[in-house]
Amino acid sequence: MREYSINFRKIRLSAAALLISSVLLCQEDPFPLIDLHVHIKEDFTIEKALQKSRNEHIQYGIAINCGLGFPVHSDRQVDSFLLVMRKYPEFYIGMQAEGREWVKIFSKESIAKFDYVFTDAMTFTDAKGRRNRIWIKEETWIDDEQKFMDYLVKTIVKIMNEEPINIYVNPTFLPAQMADRYDYFWTEKRMDEVIAAARKNNIAIEINNRYRIPSEKFIRRAKEAGVKFTIGTNNADSRFGRAEYALEMIKKCGLQESDFWKPVKKNRTFVTILDDKFYINGQITYPGRYWKGNRIEGLLMNSRMVQGIFDDLNPETVRKWAYPDTQEWDPERNTREFLLNMKKWYDHGLLAFTINLQGGSPQGYSKEQPWHNSAYNADGTLRPDYMKRLEKILNRADELGMVVILGLFYFGQDERLRDEAAIRNAIDNVLNWLFVRGYKNILIEVNNECNVNKYDHAVLKPDRVHELIELVKQKNRNGFRFYAGTSYGGGFIPLPNVVKASDFILIHGNGVSNPGNILAMVEKTRKVEGYTPKPILFNEDDHYDFDKEWNNFTAAIKGYASWGYFDFRRPGEPFQDGYQSVPVDWGINSERKKAFFKLLNEITGWTFPL
Ligand SMILES: [Zn+2]
Repeated sequence: MREYSINFRKIRLSAAALLISSVLLCQEDPFPLIDLHVHIKEDFTIEKALQKSRNEHIQYGIAINCGLGFPVHSDRQVDSFLLVMRKYPEFYIGMQAEGREWVKIFSKESIAKFDYVFTDAMTFTDAKGRRNRIWIKEETWIDDEQKFMDYLVKTIVKIMNEEPINIYVNPTFLPAQMADRYDYFWTEKRMDEVIAAARKNNIAIEINNRYRIPSEKFIRRAKEAGVKFTIGTNNADSRFGRAEYALEMIKKCGLQESDFWKPVKKNRTFVTILDDKFYINGQITYPGRYWKGNRIEGLLMNSRMVQGIFDDLNPETVRKWAYPDTQEWDPERNTREFLLNMKKWYDHGLLAFTINLQGGSPQGYSKEQPWHNSAYNADGTLRPDYMKRLEKILNRADELGMVVILGLFYFGQDERLRDEAAIRNAIDNVLNWLFVRGYKNILIEVNNECNVNKYDHAVLKPDRVHELIELVKQKNRNGFRFYAGTSYGGGFIPLPNVVKASDFILIHGNGVSNPGNILAMVEKTRKVEGYTPKPILFNEDDHYDFDKEWNNFTAAIKGYASWGYFDFRRPGEPFQDGYQSVPVDWGINSERKKAFFKLLNEITGWTFPL
């Protein structure tokens, strides 16, 4: 536990002293602070926000007021605003929903483009049809204080039940006529009604620095009930502090980082391909990097992490995947632990990973695959539980600046789809799902190892799979389309129909134990009929020897191909081993994983941007 007392003494110093000591204060923060309720207003420009955030070591979420009579009141204006804001990856981007009509004004898609959405209960129409704006004395209609209070509480609860928000801000705000008797009006019963509604709807409650609300008592009760908090200021101009009230409450109520809700930055990463090189957000990957004379910039080092959303619908086999500690399989835990480890991979220079909507063999290699692991129903519609898990992973990848190689089908599970129409329907549904969410950090791998003879549907086999690559490429939204390709089994050189149709070429190193043959594979692939400069990536190879100078990884980069690690748990190995055998330890805890990430880090020279 850390000692905060010095910190708080300093906070009570003058504003000038506060500014000077901000670096110190930062080190004394219990955890990184995010003020999610900052407005670009009056003299407070976006440049000033950048400067103030940096100087005071506090992250900002910049929120724009959206609603009837506000600057942003249409989907189109949302897009223009986001276009500007995306130039500032430092900030979270929030929607402050105004009035109660906002839900009808903006489409679901537009609302979902923001990192988070909040509203307050300061604008509402009362039982007599009068529009109240309760921060303005003259626009607040109080006939009877207790009745006003009951109506306010009812309004807050109704908002929480009906409006799709993440945070309730300016919480428990009272009009000037009543604010001096806060504890009198905010009875325990009224507090608990609001707290219960927040809890039920998973809505975080802002600790507001400007108005110093809600009260300590309210915060304690909300914490007790398991409600999450955020920090917010709601500044009027540039003159605002550094979350003083929130810091005070964090100390007094013993709030931990885990008591706070944190949004995810969305749609921050876009991948592009130019000739045989990858670019992330317009910049070549690993810029300027060479290693032992080999060009590294433009490559996309990756790892096979296909089980991130795994589950098993077959009651006969599901017990095979039990965790060693709980003796139970848990798909949510699997995804949660995946998410927790992504930054560790990234920090070592891993810029991409492969995940598949039908996983891969949960044993590394399997003869029979009776388990049922598929994000699709038989007709190609999507299973919401799978897609919810996938969304979390894609959002996190986007936030970190990672590219996702998203596999759509797997030979051990493609029979879960009824027929070819279902396959095409599944592709349609996945792409629409991705378009709606605005992802631009995804490469589509139509299917894993199309030439494995276990595929049931002809359109997934080598002769015809280029049709599906073309299908993915044809689908576009506002001029944007996804890059597409597919992979073959280990050692196989891609065929001309796929090479021609693909935006990037996927090859596998399984079974290729001589690194010289890895280099030869890359060279042969470049000579396939119809090849034009495009990236060549291994996205599956279970050969290691990372301590040796010459191994499959170093051989691939000698040929200017990206390389992808594939690790599964061998018989007798502990839980820590492998990224494919379920249940998976997604950490970097085995010797093999450590050796891979060490070499990856050395080759990429990666020092993660802070
Ligand atoms: Zn505001």
